[in-house]
Amino acid sequence: MKERVATNLKKVLADLPEGVRLVAVSKFHPVEELLEAYDAGQRIFGESQVQELQRKVAAMPSDVEWHFIGHLQTNKVKYLAPYVSMIHAVDSLKLLREIDRQAAKNDRVIDVLLELHIAEEETKYGFSPSDCRELLASGEWRELRHVRICGLMMMATYTDDTTQIRLEMEQAQSLFHELKANYFAEEPSFCERSWGMSHDYRIALETGATLVRIGTTIFGERVY
Ligand SMILES: *Cc1c(COP(=O)(O)O)cnc(C)c1O
Repeated sequence: MKERVATNLKKVLADLPEGVRLVAVSKFHPVEELLEAYDAGQRIFGESQVQELQRKVAAMPSDVEWHFIGHLQTNKVKYLAPYVSMIHAVDSLKLLREIDRQAAKNDRVIDVLLELHIAEEETKYGFSPSDCRELLASGEWRELRHVRICGLMMMATYTDDTTQIRLEMEQAQSLFHELKANYFAEEPSFCERSWGMSHDYRIALETGATLVRIGTTIFGERVY
């Protein structure tokens, strides 16, 4: 069915209030479908695997803003550093240092988000709220001139329990405001809250999200 992606994209965009940006999560979908979204005006795409991203970067127009949303291994940062617009899931100081090092080599400043772990699932990566506070309190990040911490990212527990999802997103939102006040009050660039996926982005819009990462609703089910 042609136009399917464009139609879905427009529906999602119509739901987003001003100031909320859409990351079209295109992982596992073919370039033709990304192009359909691109032709409908979408410019921010999210991918979670380095090799797949490399391939798509080569195939897509150069004004796409690529957001890396998956778990990132430090040894792969060098591949992304020349072009990535934002890295959403920074989950260690070690990774932050490596992004800084590779960004410096490319003479860039890379925007990043700190990934919070609030969800119940053991499998999810990220800082607990207290680890996140500790990281910022330690102050080392201030010396990393080639990364810019722009906010927080989180994935809520995968559940039908909307009350739980809302509580987790509210926790993330309140930590964002706390960190903003304590460390970034003078920095307008610390403003991003990346939460909300296909099944829970409406709740995210009510809990302060500024970036929603939506795949399935736009492109359909992924074929792994
Ligand atoms: C795959 C993925 C998404 C998109 O999920 P959908 O349910 O397809 O909208 C969002 N965020 C992250 C981190 C992902 O890995």
